[in-house]
Amino acid sequence: MSAIEPGVELAHYRQHGAGVRLTCRDCQLHRDLPLEAVIERLKARGVGGERTGIVELSGLVRAPCPRCGGRRFVTAPAFPSRAADPASAPPVFPPSRFRASVAPPTKGERQ
Ligand SMILES: [Zn+2]
Repeated sequence: MSAIEPGVELAHYRQHGAGVRLTCRDCQLHRDLPLEAVIERLKARGVGGERTGIVELSGLVRAPCPRCGGRRFVTAPAFPSRAADPASAPPVFPPSRFRASVAPPTKGERQ
């Protein structure tokens, strides 16, 4: 139907217990949302559901970024091991764009 690649279906991530990570393209703020809540919202709006692709989802986000008001997002799966400990989660975007907004380095940084 459309030219964009929809990506992996949201339903696929159920088996991983993953959520959805929404990252603002403008300020890099990210949030992890529960997968089922995202699916339910898509269904409620009549724009998708569990068959919606993870990439396609980025075009369906309606709420603006709470920090900068931006409306362009990158969507990616948020796997439990990462979501559980945001401090150690690797950024999903290039580090060069992920500067001062992160927490200061913790003592005794390894590697
Ligand atoms: Zn933003």
